[in-house]
Amino acid sequence: MLFDENGAVRGVVAGVFGIDKDGNKGADYQPGVELLAKYTFIGEGVRGSLAKQLIAKFGLSEGKQPQKFGIGLKELWQVPDEKFQPGLVQHTLGWPLDDKTGGGSFMYHFGDNYVAIGFVVHLNYKNPWLSPFDEFQRFKQHSAVRPHLEGGKRIAYGARAITEGGLQSIPKLFFPGGALIGCSAGFVNVPRIKGSHNAMKTGMLAAEAAFAAIQNGRQGDELAEYETAFKASWVHKELKIVRNTKPIIAKFGTALGTLISGVDMTISNLTGGFSIFGTMKHGKTDAESTGLAKDYEPIVYPKPDNEISFDKLSSVFLSATNHDENQPAHLRLKDPSVPIEVNLPRFGEPARLYCPAGVYEVLYDEAGQNPKFQINFQNCVHCKTCDIKDPSQNIVWTTPQGGDGPNYPNM
Ligand code: SF4
Repeated sequence: MLFDENGAVRGVVAGVFGIDKDGNKGADYQPGVELLAKYTFIGEGVRGSLAKQLIAKFGLSEGKQPQKFGIGLKELWQVPDEKFQPGLVQHTLGWPLDDKTGGGSFMYHFGDNYVAIGFVVHLNYKNPWLSPFDEFQRFKQHSAVRPHLEGGKRIAYGARAITEGGLQSIPKLFFPGGALIGCSAGFVNVPRIKGSHNAMKTGMLAAEAAFAAIQNGRQGDELAEYETAFKASWVHKELKIVRNTKPIIAKFGTALGTLISGVDMTISNLTGGFSIFGTMKHGKTDAESTGLAKDYEPIVYPKPDNEISFDKLSSVFLSATNHDENQPAHLRLKDPSVPIEVNLPRFGEPARLYCPAGVYEVLYDEAGQNPKFQINFQNCVHCKTCDIKDPSQNIVWTTPQGGDGPNYPNM
């Protein structure tokens, strides 16, 4: 981010190249380009690193509920003609998750014999032994899912966090010199499993506010009109109706919570936003929701059959992720001692399990002693889950040099 002398945002620096892993300028060093703007919109998707910086600097989340997240894992398959049912859509809730762990799946048959299949786990889960990746692999073995994939070939894999906090978690949308748009603010409608329409509409509202301001000779100030326009828009109305879905499911569990939230949404829809619950709070962050390892039984996941279910490393290969090894690590620990001294004894170091790309490992010596925390940053698929779910909030995801990362054609 670039700030002016008064602390207002004036733009960003993009495209720094050639800094080596020790932070020195290499022979191919290239300074970044300063992109300056009258108003800078931050639309980095979920848990953006610039948005995180701005939310903290300008206190944009003060008085709001913490943002909530899910992790979505997805695979793309190509299936034989006899399995392909163009247009088929299948959504599920729950299994193989228990009733206290929120999540569900999607499956779409489309295009050239493609089946896109994915699984979402809400990141407020408590059991630190849970592995979202392995839940997804187990899910594909269900008798209503496996037949869709049998005989097919898995051709791509990826993962990404999703904002799930809804209306009560949306931060203040403007700051001196710019605004948050899209999932940097978090406009996903969780029960409708969609957010692109709201991201587009709010991006348009921000653009219209900036255009009108510039027409009036303004620049670099606070675009309060954007937030006013959002509150008067159908996006706000839509998110208001579903505002209690996520907290109801978190409180009552998937089965009963889905039933109650269905009634709540129907009443809210008919009355323009009334709910007997008022506006429920989320309370804890997803990191704070993580329970202690001693209070939960470790989960033993079935071994992959390499036909329908797979391991993490063969999956990461299909994400086509790539990071130049001679660059500063983009995954940083605020305190390098925390994974082994705090997270391992208290939480079993859950980064080993929640990371869908096998980036984090705890290695032991031959005698099974002296644990060491290892970060295989080259494998990272940029889902941002570690930045969100680490119970010690010790992992900071930063932008890798040179735009390295996963490559998701057709995903
Ligand atoms: S290191 Fe973090 S951002 Fe990268 S894949 Fe693992 S959990 Fe996701």
